[in-house]
Amino acid sequence: MNFDLTPEQQLTRDAVRDFANREIAPKARHVDETGEFPLETFHKMGALGLMGLPFPEEYGGAAADSVSTAIAIEEVARACGSTALAYAAHIGLGSAPIALFGSHAQKERFLRPAAEGKTIAAFALTEPHAGSDAGATRTTARLAGDQWVINGAKMWITNAPVAGHLIVTAVTNPDEKHAISALIVPGGSAGLSFGKHEPKMGLRGSLSTAVMFDDVRIPHDHLLGTRGRGFIQFLKVLDGGRIGIAAMAIGLAQAAFDVASTYAKERSAFGKPIGAYESISNMIADMALGLHAARLMLYQAAWLRDANRPYSREAAMAKLYASEVGERICRDAIQVLGGYGYSQEFPLERIYRDQRLLTIGEGTSEILRVVIGRHILGDFVGK
Ligand SMILES: Cc1cc2nc3c(=O)[nH]c(=O)nc-3n(C[C@H](O)[C@H](O)[C@H](O)COP(=O)(O)OP(=O)(O)OC[C@H]3O[C@@H](n4cnc5c(N)ncnc54)[C@H](O)[C@@H]3O)c2cc1C
Repeated sequence: MNFDLTPEQQLTRDAVRDFANREIAPKARHVDETGEFPLETFHKMGALGLMGLPFPEEYGGAAADSVSTAIAIEEVARACGSTALAYAAHIGLGSAPIALFGSHAQKERFLRPAAEGKTIAAFALTEPHAGSDAGATRTTARLAGDQWVINGAKMWITNAPVAGHLIVTAVTNPDEKHAISALIVPGGSAGLSFGKHEPKMGLRGSLSTAVMFDDVRIPHDHLLGTRGRGFIQFLKVLDGGRIGIAAMAIGLAQAAFDVASTYAKERSAFGKPIGAYESISNMIADMALGLHAARLMLYQAAWLRDANRPYSREAAMAKLYASEVGERICRDAIQVLGGYGYSQEFPLERIYRDQRLLTIGEGTSEILRVVIGRHILGDFVGK
């Protein structure tokens, strides 16, 4: 076994960390306070080749492996959660389905500009009444001549209002059980509209809005892959997306850990640094333990993916563990700082609010336990 990062992976980490420290971290507080989408940052990330990191060079990407991509998301999250969510959604949800299932023409038209950072991508699966139970999708796409006509509504779609294209799941075969297909909807399509910028607990600079489809017409060749395979496709997309969310959880937790461990050495109480008290050093040790375990799980899941081996269970485990331990690390980091942890003078309250989404998005903790249980025990449903 070799636990060292490859020279390319180290290079990615150093380059993204440097960029994130210079360009992303200084704006994180402003992005949170104003809810402004950091569009300029994404232009700069495009120029650096980050927007197409894992995609083939043939389509404008950098052909980096999944471990490097996870490291890039981790480093962006360490600097700003809102930017990281938009980035992870662009890579893992909005662009990856085209790389996985798209035709050459679809890759040229939609993946290339996304990979080159000219457009931002979104993935519209969740509906107002169907989140975990995404098979209950009600949005429909009906074939009329050589066009699909889409009607329905989606909810919580990250990047939707700024997206160059959206991957949209819709019922195309109403008489079958899993009658869902995935379609590529260009951002400016007539009949496409967006809800308001949802006020959220955290990740306030990422845009996650409702999306409405009112007779949205797209050419028939915007169907992604095979008709009726949308359900299987999005399960595969979510496996990859979970690696991204685990990376985000680790980046945010690392940022909280950095603040807390520095503070524990600098702050004195009763004549000695608070880090000299066992209850504080135990918290710091537990935080380091959680981070280390989560990172090993994340890199192993990404490594399995790079080796073209099954990684669905490991991605679910990494996402579940990293998001839960990450939340605890952020909570404990606030505890280490006492009153200052609760204050906006330090970034911990923002990081804690940002981290809170991660046990919910791309599979709640409850659903991930179901997924992992099924991997181990098999599917008892209907037996
Ligand atoms: C900021 C943000 C960004 C998002 N971005 C996107 C995006 O880009 N694209 C997209 O498609 N979606 C996105 N989502 C949606 C997200 O993936 C869903 O919120 C999530 O899957 C949960 O669905 P739900 O909110 O409908 O909760 P529900 O599915 O209604 O779940 C409610 C509760 O019931 C539990 N539950 C449900 N079913 C079961 C079960 N079988 N067993 C045990 N417990 C169960 C859940 O774990 C949860 O605790 C985003 C959400 C947020 C908040």
